[in-house]
Amino acid sequence: MKKNIIISFLITLLMSFRIFGFSNVNAAETAEVKTPKDTVGELKENGDIGTGTIDNAKQSEKKKVVILATGGTIAASGDEGKTTGYDPGVISAEELISSVPELKDVADIDAVQICNLNSDDMTDEIWIELANKINEMAKDPDITGFVITHGTDTMEETAYFLNLTVKTDKPVVLTGSMRPPTSLSADGPMNLYEAASVAASDEAYGKGVLIVLSDHIYSARSVTKTSTYSVDAISSGEMGSMGIVRDGRVFIYEEPVKLHTVSTEFDVSDIKELPKVSILYFCVDSDPGLLSYAADNSDGLVIAGAGAGEFSEEYKEIIGSLSIPVVISSRIDDGIIIPDNLLCENTVAADNLSPQKAAILLRLSLLNTTDNEKLQKIFTSY
Ligand code: ASP
Repeated sequence: MKKNIIISFLITLLMSFRIFGFSNVNAAETAEVKTPKDTVGELKENGDIGTGTIDNAKQSEKKKVVILATGGTIAASGDEGKTTGYDPGVISAEELISSVPELKDVADIDAVQICNLNSDDMTDEIWIELANKINEMAKDPDITGFVITHGTDTMEETAYFLNLTVKTDKPVVLTGSMRPPTSLSADGPMNLYEAASVAASDEAYGKGVLIVLSDHIYSARSVTKTSTYSVDAISSGEMGSMGIVRDGRVFIYEEPVKLHTVSTEFDVSDIKELPKVSILYFCVDSDPGLLSYAADNSDGLVIAGAGAGEFSEEYKEIIGSLSIPVVISSRIDDGIIIPDNLLCENTVAADNLSPQKAAILLRLSLLNTTDNEKLQKIFTSY
């Protein structure tokens, strides 16, 4: 009995220290024991709170999240229990949402079916429609954030395009799945629940476009698909993830410093399509004739060079003679290409953007300029 009293006294003492340590309030005022919920509310009011401590699913007033569905494996249908050989983009936005009843604990949900396809069939027309729809809907003060359901194959490209073209600080979060809903242990429901939790959160406000998959929160700029089968199929490589989600709680520890969303110069409100950019992947004995063909049929090129953006003497000769903008990226996942690395003077260094992300930035930049010096400034800023 005595032992119990001493233990409960020690616990109360420890809780008082905890509250005092985190809230900056006078020790005398913290004498009563508070629940973690009370403490969070108080800290928020005092402005003393960092990111990642509010249980949005339970404590904030009801939010509204719009789910824009585009297809992918998360909306697929296949043989019962199997993880391969399914049809992506079959299930409607409404069906997807009703399969995760827990979403109602996170926010009121609206659904918009943008398209329903395998994300390898995504197009610039759909990107532009998506960006303009979000820009329009974001003006509605009742909407807290957006979730885009999408195939994982090209999710990083759509995310980066939106990161450069949506004009809102409200959270825009992409998610998908690696296993179809008809498989054993499908990952889509949890991914959708976590993406909605992030879209409804205060923590994700102003952080640029995000991807949520397998409990992790990634920045659109750095994320890439790294596995053809694993449920943990994407990664931001050496840049790391921005945060994690646990049972609807959002914890963000990093934020992007490169220009995004409301700070960009890109406006797609009046266009229907983007300039055409081709990506050439260099390898031993690459046919330089492909370069000439691509240059004749494109507005700009991106080279996925070896190492720090390098290629053969034959490649160098043709690239050096081209008059369309050429951006040099690398086939290596991690690392950076700076102007000092360039083998040809008439080219632009992609910084640490992957070839597929460099192509998106080049397509948008070509709406405004073809000048190499200006393009290099853009590639250094975004
Ligand atoms: N092929 C599918 C897609 O990108 C793969 C996926 O969703 O994971 O639509």
